[in-house]
Amino acid sequence: MIPQPLTIHEAHELLKAKKLSSVELTKACLERIRQAEPKVHALVTITDELALKQAQEADRLIAKGDSHPLTGIPVIIKDNMCTKGIPTTCSSRMLQNFVPPYDATVVEKLNDCGAVTIGKANMDEFAMGSSTEHSAFFATHNPWDLTRVPGGSSGGSAVAVAAEETIYALGSDTGGSIRQPAGFCSVVGLKPTYGRVSRYGLVAFASSLDQIGPLTKDVTDCAIVLNAIAGYDNRDSTSVPEPTPDYTQCLTTDLKGLRLGIPKEYFVEGMQAEVEKALKAAIKRLEELGAKVDWEVSLPHTPYALAAYYIIAPSEASANLARYDGVKYGFSYVNTNSMWEALEKTRQFGFGDEVKRRIMLGTYALSAGYYDAYYLKAQKVRTLIRREFDQAFKQYDALITPTSPTLPFRIGEKMDDPLQMYLSDVCTLPINIAGLPAISIPAGFGDGLPIGMQLIAKPFGEEAILKIAYAYEQATEWHKRRAGV
Ligand code: GLN
Repeated sequence: MIPQPLTIHEAHELLKAKKLSSVELTKACLERIRQAEPKVHALVTITDELALKQAQEADRLIAKGDSHPLTGIPVIIKDNMCTKGIPTTCSSRMLQNFVPPYDATVVEKLNDCGAVTIGKANMDEFAMGSSTEHSAFFATHNPWDLTRVPGGSSGGSAVAVAAEETIYALGSDTGGSIRQPAGFCSVVGLKPTYGRVSRYGLVAFASSLDQIGPLTKDVTDCAIVLNAIAGYDNRDSTSVPEPTPDYTQCLTTDLKGLRLGIPKEYFVEGMQAEVEKALKAAIKRLEELGAKVDWEVSLPHTPYALAAYYIIAPSEASANLARYDGVKYGFSYVNTNSMWEALEKTRQFGFGDEVKRRIMLGTYALSAGYYDAYYLKAQKVRTLIRREFDQAFKQYDALITPTSPTLPFRIGEKMDDPLQMYLSDVCTLPINIAGLPAISIPAGFGDGLPIGMQLIAKPFGEEAILKIAYAYEQATEWHKRRAGV
């Protein structure tokens, strides 16, 4: 019998001790998928055959004593990362039949560790959204309350972990898409420093903001996965040739002397009282653990981050999505002899409403005559925000904020109000604008729904936030509660 829930490090110990085989573990996850999927709808593709083949291979490696901490451990990959021979849809009609001829670097790296891929996760179309309702296929449901959203855009990945369909997952984060669903589903989600993890083979949304990262059941697992996926890649020109430390080495519980800052602008108007209460209690706990907390930090440009993001991200998206013209990849409208009509109809039928909204916003912001007023201005704001963080990190080892100002909201609640949906990421997107690393960890519950705490560090300061997250996790029990669907 396989113990549930099982983390990567626990599963690794069982595999090594031959108390469990990778085939057994993989079959248990596939069985769990069969039970939970009809309720949560987290997966776009289930790769049982491939998984069992990889599991057999992993068992051979383990028998030889040749195992990495990820060997034989099942993973689910967000469906915007290319997987050779496996559909990679971005939850879009445009790419519904797209089967990549190559693996993304992160997938290649996991395969090199002997990972077992059991499926591809649902997401907001092209990663645009905060609820996983903008998938062209179906909405994903939060396992803590099936009438609520799991957050987005990596909602499928977060739910697959929270509902025990997999041991861990990969997501991508452009403005909060790993951290916000991690917060909504009570799992750990890390967005690494921009350039820390290769974006090669990640279908581009906003290239200057996108990063891939882990979604896991605890902080130790997060460090293990980061170890496997981080590092320089000459196929991604924005990848940074910074050495990769062993991230599991920083996981200690001593926070003495660490300086934490609480930026007051993140305790925004409209924040739910339950979230504020849980966050304040969590920060007090960090204080008890020995950290020195400054409750009165100010980052005055924070309120402009949302506006700057919604110029920069759609501008980059409009350029990145120009490639979907019905000729090179994916869906193609063929019932016409006119090239222009084919192009128009391909995009009309291939993209959903939110994607079209972003393309229109971005195209407008980049048009001659508007470029200076919008795009250039947003880039200047971006510089101010980055400088403000640089200043803060001269004084603090980490900044702490809520991951989201609200509890998971109801399915359908924000679909007709894009601005309300955009506000879901008000606490997470400044971090992408500045290229910083940040982690969301379980920090409490309100009305039975999960609440996430976000820890932010300076560029390449992943170790600082992993350490604080680990110390908090060891001192609390939130991460042990399971959704139980
Ligand atoms: N919710 C934000 C958006 O819609 C962020 C999405 C993401 O991080 N991919 O753009």
